[in-house]
Amino acid sequence: MPPFDKILIANRGEIALRILRACRELGIKTVAVHSTVDRDLPHVRLADESVCIGPPQPAASYLNMGAIVSAAEVTDAVAIHPGYGFLAENADFAESVEQSGFVFIGPKPQTIRLMGNKTNAIEAMRAVGVPCVPGSDGELPESSAALLSIAKRIGYPVIVKAAGGGGGRGMRVVHTEAALANAVVMTRNEAQHAFGDGRVYLEKFLDRPRHIEIQILADHHGSVIHLGERDCSMQRRHQKILEEAPAPGLSEQQRRHLGRLSVEACRQIGYRGAGTLEFLYLDGHFYFIEMNTRIQVEHPVTEMITGIDLIKEQILVASGMPLRYRQEDIVCRGHAIECRINAEDPRTFMPAPGLISAVHAPGGPGIRMDSHAYTGYRIPPYYDSLIAKLIAHGENRLSAIARMQTALNELVIEGIPHTAPLQEAIMVDTAFQRGEIDIGFLERKLSGLIDTAE
Ligand code: ADP
Repeated sequence: MPPFDKILIANRGEIALRILRACRELGIKTVAVHSTVDRDLPHVRLADESVCIGPPQPAASYLNMGAIVSAAEVTDAVAIHPGYGFLAENADFAESVEQSGFVFIGPKPQTIRLMGNKTNAIEAMRAVGVPCVPGSDGELPESSAALLSIAKRIGYPVIVKAAGGGGGRGMRVVHTEAALANAVVMTRNEAQHAFGDGRVYLEKFLDRPRHIEIQILADHHGSVIHLGERDCSMQRRHQKILEEAPAPGLSEQQRRHLGRLSVEACRQIGYRGAGTLEFLYLDGHFYFIEMNTRIQVEHPVTEMITGIDLIKEQILVASGMPLRYRQEDIVCRGHAIECRINAEDPRTFMPAPGLISAVHAPGGPGIRMDSHAYTGYRIPPYYDSLIAKLIAHGENRLSAIARMQTALNELVIEGIPHTAPLQEAIMVDTAFQRGEIDIGFLERKLSGLIDTAE
């Protein structure tokens, strides 16, 4: 018996296709919802049923809660998978899905709400013994004297962050006292505009840390396991470009420590479903920064090294089934790297929607490509620019890099600029090959690249 009769996929692009494939394997029928420009996406054609939920603008379609819940009603879907982005971390949506009698494939609405406000998330994590970045311990006060004294206690440089922020936006680094008040006002305004929440907080700005995160799976019966860590230090403007698992250079003891800490924290907050705890890592110490209460873009690297299908497990636990794995069943084999291929200029990162005139996906041992792109696909300008995730798995990091190089070389996406050339440049970088990475690596490299090119 499948865990659900029918699932509605409340997303688009590669993740919608990924969820559809997991449903198929589990014998679950699927409903695709799509905007008017997305009617020809592969997952829409492959789904058992599809419903057009509105015009291209996300607010009118993929963020339109009423339209999505109505689509579930008319198609008799039982559960809704939100994917990532759009409504995946919207507690009101999760609540309205549940109140309408459907299963939301994700944690409880109150957990989403708690983790959706980063200062509350930090407070909750601190309370269960997880180390966090030294900071303002809550939202910033209006008084400028109080603000200056908080920043002084933390020590410059500091980073102003939006409590409701995400996607690398709503952050500003401040190096001097003189620049603080203005940076707070600007971040507040920006956060209010982008997230509808102007609350901001301060953290110590760590100097060249690494971004390391732990994948969690939890069922409805109190069992929590972790599936190891991922290193996502390759970023531009605080957004991930390349991810890998395991994180290079960590000791087994550090891995076990971080895994246990994360599992214990999730157990204490009553977490359920798939989730990720994100940390910054500097000088041997881990500092929690936020938790994502959904499946992440980079989940495939964990799947490749553990052999576990995270979307399938996410669906199974959402149906109330106990976890099928114990912690000791999780064995990580080899190394996996994911390169995000975005429809962007690889030098300026300007999104470049347009017509894809040819696509050829690479193949061979250890290669996986998750993509909704096809020859003749016109990338609409309304959504994020991710068009493919290329994943390489090898017996160790260097063999994964060699496979990725071969795959990038085989990859053909014509008609639009994209980030594969940048990924190729990273693969041949000797410092990257040695695993000497931190969150500033890519921007330092890019300034070097541009200097030598000009
Ligand atoms: P978002 O939710 O927008 O992804 P995060 O809090 O996860 O924001 O931070 C995203 C990235 O921003 C981190 O991976 C890191 O590169 C940078 N960052 C965040 N906080 C700090 C900090 N305190 N010090 C240095 N870099 C930081």
